[in-house]
Amino acid sequence: MPLLRSAFIALSHNRLLRRFVEHSRLGGRLSSRFVAGMEIEDALRVAEAVNKQGMAVTLDSLGESVTSEAEAHRAAEIYHQLLDAIAERKLDANISVKLTQMGLELSAELAEAIVESLAGHAAATGNFVRIDMEDSTLTQITLDIVRRLHARPQLRGAIGVVIQSYLYRSQADIEQLLAGGIRVRLCKGAYKEPPEVAFKRKADVDANFVRLSQMLLASPVYHALATHDEAMVAAARTFASQHGIDPSRFEFQMLYGVRRDLQRRLVREGYKVRVYVPFGREWYPYFMRRLAERPANVLFLARNFFRS
Ligand SMILES: Cc1cc2nc3c(=O)[nH]c(=O)nc-3n(C[C@H](O)[C@H](O)[C@H](O)COP(=O)(O)OP(=O)(O)OC[C@H]3O[C@@H](n4cnc5c(N)ncnc54)[C@H](O)[C@@H]3O)c2cc1C
Repeated sequence: MPLLRSAFIALSHNRLLRRFVEHSRLGGRLSSRFVAGMEIEDALRVAEAVNKQGMAVTLDSLGESVTSEAEAHRAAEIYHQLLDAIAERKLDANISVKLTQMGLELSAELAEAIVESLAGHAAATGNFVRIDMEDSTLTQITLDIVRRLHARPQLRGAIGVVIQSYLYRSQADIEQLLAGGIRVRLCKGAYKEPPEVAFKRKADVDANFVRLSQMLLASPVYHALATHDEAMVAAARTFASQHGIDPSRFEFQMLYGVRRDLQRRLVREGYKVRVYVPFGREWYPYFMRRLAERPANVLFLARNFFRS
């Protein structure tokens, strides 16, 4: 892993720096490139604007690893409010949820019960809950919970999960998910993983992404390919057109503020695009992971900051 990427991932865990920047005005201004704002209303406003540009949205209320049951319930409450607001305002949006924010590290039963109620709410409003994937120590439990919930007839189709192409295990996981008809978002993976579980070379991660995306595209279930990498997008497009897979049968997903040019181009060319829109006060770890993915963003942010 290149030095700068490791440095930003290490910084994403630094509590002192986090406490300082999350409460500073400077931090708020810097983060606004990748984060929709601090409040639910900010996220809904951005979702509406993105919808007007012809793209769907998935909303992420930022926060990870809660330390009490009450905190987990408060975090879930925000998602319940989002599901109601999405229905009321007829937005083209769903929600993305992290199990650690729903209390997974306190108790798996707690997280499962909370997500069950979110998925029930989503099913009742014709919506969908995507469970984000966190680090590899949580992969198995995350998949177990999603599979169990998806197996309930009333939640079928209302919950899906994320698979990371940097993990060796992902092909086997996708085979199982496809057998269960579960919707997958494929991404490369954003965490620092040991070589025992994950490919280290970008070329290997990319080759696996292409392989796995072809498995998803060939399946009858509606899946998502989450990447800003033009080579990954081109490979998926070529495979789809060679196999007669209509662009309406899958979607590309990208992060808010990242490769907006590519997002718009894909829409113009008839592809479905969903933008991942994060919001909330706990933006620091998310923001640092975005810098880790592309350290040049620091220069980009600094230039814009001094210009504005
Ligand atoms: C919608 C969505 C949901 C995701 N959900 C998860 C999840 O649940 N779990 C998880 O581990 N990871 C998740 N990720 C993050 C993902 O795993 C990658 O870390 C991230 O998307 C970067 O990989 P890439 O495919 O864009 O390709 P990379 O090889 O990292 O980048 C390819 C090119 O994309 C552009 N690019 C990539 N990142 C940035 C950036 N931050 N700023 C500007 N340009 C950039 C650059 O031009 C770069 O050269 C998600 C990503 C997206 C888009």
